[in-house]
Amino acid sequence: MNSKQFRAEAHRMVDWMADYFEEVEEYPVKPDVEPGEILQQLPASAPEEGEPFNEIFQDFRQIIMPGITHWESPNFMAYFPANKSYPSVLAEMLTATLGAQCMSWVTSPAATELEDRVMEWLREMTGLPSDFSGVIQDTASTSTLVALLMAREQVTGFEVNESGFPSDQTFTVYCSSETHSSIEKDVKIAGFGKQNLRKVKVDRDFAMKPEALEKMIRTDLENGCKPACVVATLGTTGSTAIDPLPEIADICARYDIFLHVDAAYAGTALLLPEYRKMIDGIEQVDSFVFNPHKWMFTNFDCSAFFVRDEAQLVRTFEIIPEYLKTAEDDRVKNYRDWGIQLGRRFRALKLWFVIRNFGVEGIRQKVRRHIQLAQDLQSRIVDSDDFEMLAPLSLNLLCFRYHPSNTSDEEMLNRLNRKLLESVNNTGKLFITHTKLDNKYTLRMVIGNTNVEQRHVDKAWDLINEMAKGL
Ligand SMILES: *Cc1c(COP(=O)(O)O)cnc(C)c1O
Repeated sequence: MNSKQFRAEAHRMVDWMADYFEEVEEYPVKPDVEPGEILQQLPASAPEEGEPFNEIFQDFRQIIMPGITHWESPNFMAYFPANKSYPSVLAEMLTATLGAQCMSWVTSPAATELEDRVMEWLREMTGLPSDFSGVIQDTASTSTLVALLMAREQVTGFEVNESGFPSDQTFTVYCSSETHSSIEKDVKIAGFGKQNLRKVKVDRDFAMKPEALEKMIRTDLENGCKPACVVATLGTTGSTAIDPLPEIADICARYDIFLHVDAAYAGTALLLPEYRKMIDGIEQVDSFVFNPHKWMFTNFDCSAFFVRDEAQLVRTFEIIPEYLKTAEDDRVKNYRDWGIQLGRRFRALKLWFVIRNFGVEGIRQKVRRHIQLAQDLQSRIVDSDDFEMLAPLSLNLLCFRYHPSNTSDEEMLNRLNRKLLESVNNTGKLFITHTKLDNKYTLRMVIGNTNVEQRHVDKAWDLINEMAKGL
């Protein structure tokens, strides 16, 4: 492909992208394909000779598109959203065009300094303390791993980095039984061992019980273990439960334990002053993560990670081989020392585009609207004779189930709701997912897509009712 062809194809492709955004809600949200169906349409070996671009693009439309789940559709109410927006997509086009590696200041000074600035903006926008420093990681899973590695080095005086874990000491990590699965994965990777992850009981609202946390810590101390880290969740993945940060922070301060906060989804709500109470106790927190790539209209990947002690973070990761030394090292940030990877994408650009184009107030309005739509739907669920809420609505994730008055058999209800979910999703008109809360099969519906409006929620609720009647 030459420059002239690139220009022509790019124009054509941008038109296709704009059409897609306009038409996406007409697509079946979840594709109707069997495992292997896409694979078998793809040649077993790579082509020896280059192929014309229009043939490649044709195959994209004919083979790939029918197998895509449309996360961008306002009828996508599953998992948590992976939002995007026009300014974010445009920024990603520029990022790909520049292809800059943002590992050191010198490898792209503007990328480092823009990241520095937008993380400062984000810190202010979310009300995090002024002594926190931020860096963009790929995902919350990685951010939490970074936090656990910091905790590991803090509790061992940087000994594990030097000589590995001491054989005569067990280090423990704490999270609630509702915590995201990435914490267990990170605990395994960081070398603590899955057996040393304590899952603290939750209360009726699925938030961590601080008394239970303290009791576990005491028991571990009595048994000679060393508590290394507590992970508190603001907005659990199952039901957006909010762990009580002030009490947890108190306990961590008393026992001198590293405290990491996972607000991967709910962090965006901190833009609204009325939700700032979620981070009461933040002064005691050592690290904090939230994902603009979930609910802040910035496409995947973009995870905002903040730490209170920048020097401790850098000391955990820093290695300076000769070939990476530069003359400016003592005057600049080298983000390669702020996490796991050396090579880093230029992610700050899309965040900058999104924040500037929406304005902070523009983002707030959308987020508030989502919460409002969820509250309205909650009223309808509560008023319905056949449905019930299964967890408090803290933001915009509704946890509910079909519960017709003629049955109270739990097994039966689980089966009914599993069938309901399947039949709703099979229509292609809506995509929702499930979880288990108190062993109850729970329908999970998130009103958080960038372009979701009242009419999409109305249609979704009608569809769920219609399918429930047909069971
Ligand atoms: C989504 C989620 C994660 C994982 O996020 P990734 O960025 O995909 O790693 C972790 N914790 C919570 C609470 C989440 O909702």
